[in-house]
Amino acid sequence: MISDRKKQIFVTDLDGTLLDDNYRWDPAIPSLKRIRELGFPLVLNSSKTLPEIQAIAAALPTDAPLIAENGGLIAIPEGSPLVAACDSGDTVAGYRILFPGISREKILQVAHDLRDSRGYAFEGFADWPIETIIAHTGLSHGQALHSRQRLATEPIHWNDSEEKLAGFSAALAPHHIRLLRGGRFIHLMGLCDKADGLRTVADLYRTVFPNSPWSTIALGDGANDLEMLNAADAAAVIPNTHGGALLKPAVRRVFTASLPGPAGWHEAITHFLTT
Ligand SMILES: [Mg+2]
Repeated sequence: MISDRKKQIFVTDLDGTLLDDNYRWDPAIPSLKRIRELGFPLVLNSSKTLPEIQAIAAALPTDAPLIAENGGLIAIPEGSPLVAACDSGDTVAGYRILFPGISREKILQVAHDLRDSRGYAFEGFADWPIETIIAHTGLSHGQALHSRQRLATEPIHWNDSEEKLAGFSAALAPHHIRLLRGGRFIHLMGLCDKADGLRTVADLYRTVFPNSPWSTIALGDGANDLEMLNAADAAAVIPNTHGGALLKPAVRRVFTASLPGPAGWHEAITHFLTT
C-alpha cells in the first residue's frame, strides 16, 4: 500500500532505460499512467538537448522539469509552481532555465577567446553549418536542428596533438569548464553531471512543497547514470543491452530489473510503487 503522505520523484534516463533502441516505450505505458494518477513527478534526465527531450515529454506525457545535456541545464515549465523557487530569469521556449554549471554562451566565449589568442585548432557545432553537423553526426535534418539547439555543452572535433589538448584543458579549468570524451566528439561542459540535475530538481520540490516528505527514485542503465543513482534515495538498475556491466549503485534501496529498456522500467516502477 502507498501511504497518502509519501511523495516520490521519479528521475529517469531515456536511451536504454525508458526508451528501447527504436525510441519506443510501449511496455512502460501502464506504469506511466500509474505515476500520473498518483500525481508523482516524472523527471527526464538525459544527455539529449532540450528540444529532443521536450518532444518525448510531450508524447509521454509529463509536465515535470526536464534535465538536459548531462545535467548541464534544468528546464522548468513556466506554468509550474516550482518557478517560484527559481533564481534565474532565463526563459527558453516556455521553460525557465537553470544552469548548475555554466551556460554554453559562456563556454563558447572562453573557448573561442583561447582559440584566437593561443591558436588551438578545433571546430565545433557553433562553427558548422547544418550540413556539416549532419555529415559529422549522421542525424536527419530535423534531428540535427534539435541537436544544434544546445544551451550548456559544445561538441568539438580536436584537430591538434594530445599535448595541445592537455594544454587547452588546463586553460579551461580555471573557468570551470571540463572536457568530456564521447564517441564522436569531445564535449566542452561545466562541472556538473546528471546527479546535480537530480539534486537541483529535488531541492525545488522540497522548497516549494516543504510539508511533503519527498523521496527520489532514479532509474538508469549506463555508466553516466551511476552518480545520479547514487544521489537518489532509491535506485533502479536497468540491464544494458549493449554489453555494459550492470551498475552497482551505493544506495540502500536498489532494484535491479531482469529485462532491458521499457519492460525493465515497468518492472522497477511496479516494484517501487508496491513496496
Ligand atoms: Mg542510457
